[in-house]
Amino acid sequence: MKRLYLLIIAVVLSACQPQLVTSTVLLPSATLESSASPSPTQTTLPTSQPSQIVPSPTSTIRALQVCSPLEEESINTLPSILVNPLVIPPFGRDDGHHGLDFSYYRRDARESIQGIAVYSILSGTTALTLPDEIPYGNTIVIETPLSELPESLQEKLKSLYQPVPEDVHYQGECPEISPPTLTETLSVYHLYAHLENPPPFQVGDLINCGVQLGTVGNTGRSSNPHLHLETRLGPSGADLGDMAFYETKYTEAQRANYCLWRMSGYFQLFDPYLIFTPGLQT
Ligand SMILES: [Zn+2]
Repeated sequence: MKRLYLLIIAVVLSACQPQLVTSTVLLPSATLESSASPSPTQTTLPTSQPSQIVPSPTSTIRALQVCSPLEEESINTLPSILVNPLVIPPFGRDDGHHGLDFSYYRRDARESIQGIAVYSILSGTTALTLPDEIPYGNTIVIETPLSELPESLQEKLKSLYQPVPEDVHYQGECPEISPPTLTETLSVYHLYAHLENPPPFQVGDLINCGVQLGTVGNTGRSSNPHLHLETRLGPSGADLGDMAFYETKYTEAQRANYCLWRMSGYFQLFDPYLIFTPGLQT
């Protein structure tokens, strides 16, 4: 009887072992899952893009100054207030999102982004100012010649610039467009939209990096105060003219200029983060 009793205990113990083994196998498996999950998230962060640019020689980097577009925000803190990323549509289409939107409701002691100063991100020349119309609201566009940027950034942007399409099928009702005079050089055009007030500058005014252009507002097609920052590469010295769209009260010229800027393929969108390369900040 005693032998039989011991045999029963041995069988019961051996029956428990597979459970113990199973639990030790599951543990590392769960650890692998949790360590693997952050990886895809990291690759989708917008801040990962500047690191893809090959740094320029130090002497070239020092020739350029890049400034934060917002009061009390550094270039490093901008990703934390990005509420709407860039979504580039195909030529001829006006959907997607043609820039970066920065906004917040509450940040430290500030209760709204409304009224915060907006600064020029690069030195350049005023290419266009727009009154409070649809969709941009009070807006300023500044032109910076591509040749003034670090060589590595020039090469990067030129590599992104696609041949201007000859036959674009426009979304919506675009009037006939007068193509801009194509020059041998390209410029970066940086646009600041939905400002509180009309910008106090005229076409041709020189603007230094960090100069205040206005304050964050909610003008134009905007449901909450925010800064819409848009960057394009296009032919240098372009006469952009007045532009507006989406309402019949606007003239044919206003709508044609809008379609030229947004859909024609002459002024091609790129991510402003390409300019915010960490090594360029001052
Ligand atoms: Zn926007």
